[in-house]
Amino acid sequence: MASLHTLLILCGCATALCLPTSSLTGNTEIDVDGGKDQDIFNINEAAGLDLVEGDILIKEGEGRNTILGEEYRWPTTVPYVLDSSLEINAKGVILKAFEQYRLKTCIDFKPRDGEPNYISVFKGSGCYSKVGNRKMGKQELSIGANCDSLGTVEHEFLHALGFWHEQSRSDRDDYVTIVWDQIQEGKEHNFNSYDETESSSLGVPYDYGSVMHYSKTAFSKGSEPTIVTKIPEFLNVIGQRMEFSDNDLLKLNRLYNCTTASTFLDSCNFEEPNICGMIQGDGGNAKWARVQMVEGGPQTDYTNLGQCQGVGFFMHFSTATGTQGDKAYLESRLFYPKRPSQCLQFYHYNSGGIDDQLNIWVREYTVKNPKGALRLIQKISGGLQGSWELYHVTLDVSDKFRVVFEGVKGRDTSKGGLSLDDINLSETQCPQYTWRIRDFSSLLATTPAGSKTYSPRFLSPDGYSFQIGLYINGLKDSPDKMAIYLHLTSGPNDDNLQWPCPWRQASMELMDQNPDIQHRMNNIRMITTDPTKTSTDTMGNVEYFWDDPRKVGSLVTDTDGSKFYRGPGSGSSNYITHGRLKSRSFIKGNDVIFLLSLDDVTGLWKTQTGRPEIQDLQLEIDDTIGSSTATVAISVFVAAAMFLGLAVGAMFYMRRRGRLMERDREIEPERTDET
Ligand SMILES: [Zn+2]
Repeated sequence: MASLHTLLILCGCATALCLPTSSLTGNTEIDVDGGKDQDIFNINEAAGLDLVEGDILIKEGEGRNTILGEEYRWPTTVPYVLDSSLEINAKGVILKAFEQYRLKTCIDFKPRDGEPNYISVFKGSGCYSKVGNRKMGKQELSIGANCDSLGTVEHEFLHALGFWHEQSRSDRDDYVTIVWDQIQEGKEHNFNSYDETESSSLGVPYDYGSVMHYSKTAFSKGSEPTIVTKIPEFLNVIGQRMEFSDNDLLKLNRLYNCTTASTFLDSCNFEEPNICGMIQGDGGNAKWARVQMVEGGPQTDYTNLGQCQGVGFFMHFSTATGTQGDKAYLESRLFYPKRPSQCLQFYHYNSGGIDDQLNIWVREYTVKNPKGALRLIQKISGGLQGSWELYHVTLDVSDKFRVVFEGVKGRDTSKGGLSLDDINLSETQCPQYTWRIRDFSSLLATTPAGSKTYSPRFLSPDGYSFQIGLYINGLKDSPDKMAIYLHLTSGPNDDNLQWPCPWRQASMELMDQNPDIQHRMNNIRMITTDPTKTSTDTMGNVEYFWDDPRKVGSLVTDTDGSKFYRGPGSGSSNYITHGRLKSRSFIKGNDVIFLLSLDDVTGLWKTQTGRPEIQDLQLEIDDTIGSSTATVAISVFVAAAMFLGLAVGAMFYMRRRGRLMERDREIEPERTDET
């Protein structure tokens, strides 16, 4: 369980006139990182571990074998077991990390089905792994408390797949200087490097951006760097734990002779004249054109936003000329799906008439329809936008297919038309919502530290209302980082929902707007609503942290003047540093985009036998005396009752969710909100 720090704003009035009703309010915040920017090595040190290079498990007498030997590789589909000791949030993060491996590499993971060698992921004290496949049957990999972040899980699995730390490469002294006298006494062995006979760099240059690189203060006596990069610009780059770097992927793909990634289908930014094998489909009397600008907009493509001369193409269907009902079809090349569901993502600029329409179809090739049959997935209309907008469309195809973009000219006059750029197609789940913050660069320059910006409220597929609270310039005492919190909010279904909200996992993903989904290093944080989590106020009253916001929240006013309740928040004050925020394409065209989902993860209990363990029921609350036995006893009882309820409730939720998803398909699936 995370070390918890609670910031409580109690009644707001210091006099006895104020009766304590609820200790939890919309201003309560739990920092799951305890306010600390903890890397793997800090977590392990705090847990009292002294492992090789901080997080590598090697037993006495076990040779320092390397990734060189073929025998240390796993099959490309790695069998795993998620031990019941794991926290539910950690399980969700691990499954998300597996999805990233599937999207970007040929490595896949499957639940163990009798395979002799497998990875057993469990909650040990700290985050650690062995290097490579040790052919030992059950090979343990620990995702302990505070290790449940995407980059950390990817990091530990890269060890298991055969990788050492980046700064232990044989050529590291060409790129970094190890500051030996800043290293804690006795920890020098963590900075060993290996020669070419022990470890291969697979022909890939030294990578400061690797998710396998130590941060600058790893094993430092104080706050001085132990690693200084020879190119100063990279001093704050090393130690990233967001996502695989391009070179991490290159090395992994080389080691395992990967040619394709299992859930990736296509990415196209239309920079090449072959437009990624897309074709002008039959049936239309007009054409899509590959252009660099359109008089009526857009003035530039989205890939380069006019930053580079001579490049910057997109596809355009003009409605400025022609007659009502004109149609043009842009069809993708053929795809062969492996899963029953896909996510199509693209940027669309509408500078056409109010009733011009973009229709997304799939052309499915089946035994019954060997020449392909068209099926409409979504209609997108709405007229002039004046900007490139991000769309996600969920497809549900299981046969050979093409994606078809149909442009239809409406009756109204138009000075432009419909444009498309930066298309990605993958067999992954679409985010439920996007939250685009426009002119974010200005907000970054003007928002005071300690000021919180809230997203609009969103509804999860099963009806929970939630929003994200963002400290753009951090908390008052840490202004150089962005902080993020998940809040449940009151919504239309509250009377029919289960409270406290059981096991819903929020994914808060800051999008790296690289045109190619495989090269994006999104910054992802996941938070799970644990219905057993309680809080005790100074009067000894016990409350459930994720209870109905009308009970444990504060009444607040929305931007449109309407009122709603906001429950307490859980998240991290160390979401992303401003240095990293300003890197890559997190900010593009002055905007940032968050991809948000709130998923039911009740099913993650199912690998567990028996009743869930109830631990850490109490939050540490400032100015509160330790837990009372009575409180814990009540909590355990309620938690046990709740779990019984969950078993019955799970089926209800699954069914309800299925219905809601069906209904959603009929409504406009794309819901973009912004501030
Ligand atoms: Zn490591």
